[in-house]
Amino acid sequence: MDKYLDNLNESQREAVVHKDGPMIIIAGAGSGKTRVLTYRIAHLMNKGVDAFNILSLTFTNKAAREMKERIGTVVGTSEAKNLWMGTFHSVFARILRSEGHHLGFPSNFTIYDSQDSVRLISSIIKEMGLDKEIYKSKQVLGRISSFKNSLITVKAYYNNPDLIEADKMAQRPKMGEIYQRYVDRCFKAGSMDFDDLLLRTNQLLSQYPAVLAKYQDRFRYILVDEYQDTNHSQYLIVKALSDRFQNICVVGDDSQSIYAFRGANIQNILNFQKNYDNVKIFKLEQNYRSSNNIVEAANSVIEKNKTKLDKEVWTDNNDGERVKIMRTITEVKEAEFVANSILDHVKENEISLSDVAILYRTNSQTRAIEDVFRHRNYNIDYVIYGGLSFYQRKEIKDTLAYLRLLINPNDEEALKRVINYPLRGIGSSTVDKLSVAANHYNKSIFEIICNLGATDINLNAGVKTKLNNFATMIQHFKIEAETKNAFEVADFVVKQTRIIKDLEKDGTPEGVSKVENIQELLNAIKNFTVEQKEKGEDDSLAFFLEDAALASDLDKEAKDDSPKVSLMTIHMSKGLEYSYVYIIGLEENLFPSAMSMNTRSELEEERRLFYVALTRAEKQAYLCYAQMRYRWGKLVDCEPSRFIQEIDEKFVEHIAPQVTEFKQTKFLNDDIFGSVPQNKIRFKKPIQRTPTNKKPVPKVEFQAPKNLKKVTSKPTTASANLFDSKVTVGNIVEHTKFGKGEVLSLEGSAANQKAEIRFASVGVKKLLLQFAKLKII
Ligand code: ATP
Ligand code: MG
Repeated sequence: MDKYLDNLNESQREAVVHKDGPMIIIAGAGSGKTRVLTYRIAHLMNKGVDAFNILSLTFTNKAAREMKERIGTVVGTSEAKNLWMGTFHSVFARILRSEGHHLGFPSNFTIYDSQDSVRLISSIIKEMGLDKEIYKSKQVLGRISSFKNSLITVKAYYNNPDLIEADKMAQRPKMGEIYQRYVDRCFKAGSMDFDDLLLRTNQLLSQYPAVLAKYQDRFRYILVDEYQDTNHSQYLIVKALSDRFQNICVVGDDSQSIYAFRGANIQNILNFQKNYDNVKIFKLEQNYRSSNNIVEAANSVIEKNKTKLDKEVWTDNNDGERVKIMRTITEVKEAEFVANSILDHVKENEISLSDVAILYRTNSQTRAIEDVFRHRNYNIDYVIYGGLSFYQRKEIKDTLAYLRLLINPNDEEALKRVINYPLRGIGSSTVDKLSVAANHYNKSIFEIICNLGATDINLNAGVKTKLNNFATMIQHFKIEAETKNAFEVADFVVKQTRIIKDLEKDGTPEGVSKVENIQELLNAIKNFTVEQKEKGEDDSLAFFLEDAALASDLDKEAKDDSPKVSLMTIHMSKGLEYSYVYIIGLEENLFPSAMSMNTRSELEEERRLFYVALTRAEKQAYLCYAQMRYRWGKLVDCEPSRFIQEIDEKFVEHIAPQVTEFKQTKFLNDDIFGSVPQNKIRFKKPIQRTPTNKKPVPKVEFQAPKNLKKVTSKPTTASANLFDSKVTVGNIVEHTKFGKGEVLSLEGSAANQKAEIRFASVGVKKLLLQFAKLKII
């Protein structure tokens, strides 16, 4: 019956079966911490603990879903569904929906994402007549966020002379007032920002003993993954909830604490033993994830940190290849190297693109990679986690804003987004007047619009009619939402507001892509309703919006399921693993970041970040750096990152670019090389082939088809007469990079003819035939 325990080593098993009391598992990367947590939950359930009594907090909702699935295979999926599992934010948002009324919040409160918060702060700064160069809204929000995460309320702020003095010194004496207004406005709008979800939960638990008792009784077992990155606010929630039964199991690695800049407190893990009585400590030492070379390379770097708990990490896995270090001239060369190397692995090792991740220190580094991957010579599918993800795009946010507004008309940021979108003649001066009136009467803007007659707001009759029409429309939507499911409402709203019609008028390719995005949003909502219905769960719009607001970028699954290379910042990669990992931009001032080299503790955090990056790799890790890179619009000389030098030489191998490389792919780089003074392009030493780099960089040249005009093929049924060969649906063809594949369909004609081909190596791809150079076999 306990056969699943066979999938664990002895120390893992001990941690899994240990039953009650506080416990901590501290162990290095890849040693099975998350696995232990998963099995521990399954084991508790197997031993009779009710799923409803288990709370498990994970780093992403995706991680929670995967854990639930795995637990489901041991205890049955229907039981696993009852677990309370998710990120701090999603779990406590759910609790605040039912308990927030104690604090004066409606159950349909909306959640402001960071863009909403920044907009609100900007308008407050504007209203107060402050200098926006001194009061930079993002920085102000950062400061407010750090107050909230340390549980410093507005009142506490005003009672703390040190904080007031610090803001005065920073030339921002009005910080307290901004904070006050921001909190008031969120409250009035029935909204919470991300930090509020934790702050308000803390308030709830500390001020309402009955509520605390209820959830203490519910969550008899509490488990937390990635505990090293919890902040003070999260620590207090966990502490309060676990106080009665003391069945708290936390899992983490102090060497992977990388969120100090967002208020994470490494002391939470270091002090766990002091904060609970009779703590049982477990250590795991065997790494199951990575090759020996990777494990040892990572160990040799993290050793340089002074602040850390002593831990062993070893592996029984093969030595594998050494960690490869690649120097290129520019960031574009770096990107080309990565692209070529990935395609080589795809071809030679028959790996899937989804086995590969590219990790970087800052989001802007994706630009070169994206340009190269999208280039016709490569055509590599990728997905970016973070950055401007689907749900951050303007048209999506606008559409969602309508939906948010009809759930909660007091949501000020949503209202401002759509009050004049699509254009309906309500200008920004009207919105400013409404804001002033809302402040004056202490009502929301929507309430003011609905009661224009009762205010002394000065608007002409035409504008008043427009505002009335707007309010009527929203109220109408609200009524619809009471009886319809999420998809029906969203579809209705999109049609009624004529958002799509408006974008279609635009006629530009951007407009078209926006329409597609909105349609994709409707698809997502449709899927949601179908899935929820199947599960017998809530398929209302409110529920969908909560999902959309809380899911981190990592949780947004790629739209189609063809394999893709994953691109993400190292911060996002925590807890994940990939066979092949490329860490790019390993240069001084970029990684370690120029902003984090001033103190030992900052530098140590950067080193932990590097440790996290390297330990994501299972089979092979590549560390890339460029000798020159565009930064802030200028080409700057770069030095290799100190982290490269810190790795013990035994575990690395330097691979060098080939001297001919520059010429071969020059056409890709005209933009960059065109402006590089020739004397800047220097190779440090003659470049030689190394055994691991014996193949020349694949060269695919542009060749214009000879007789394009003669091609008269019709979509899908016809054949393409290119390169003297006819490609028809059903053909098996060979592509220089992707290998063999089957032609699934053809579309377009002449120069634009495309074929959809299913390749064994990379899945289905659409290729422009005139460039694809296919050989029929
Ligand atoms: P990180 O610190 O990166 O979060 P972790 O300690 O949580 O890592 P896991 O992700 O749980 O480690 O495990 C790493 C990999 O090793 C996973 O693929 C896991 O399935 C595998 N693994 C862990 N323990 C065992 C085991 N006893 N037998 C086989 N595979 C294992
Ligand atoms: Mg883990």
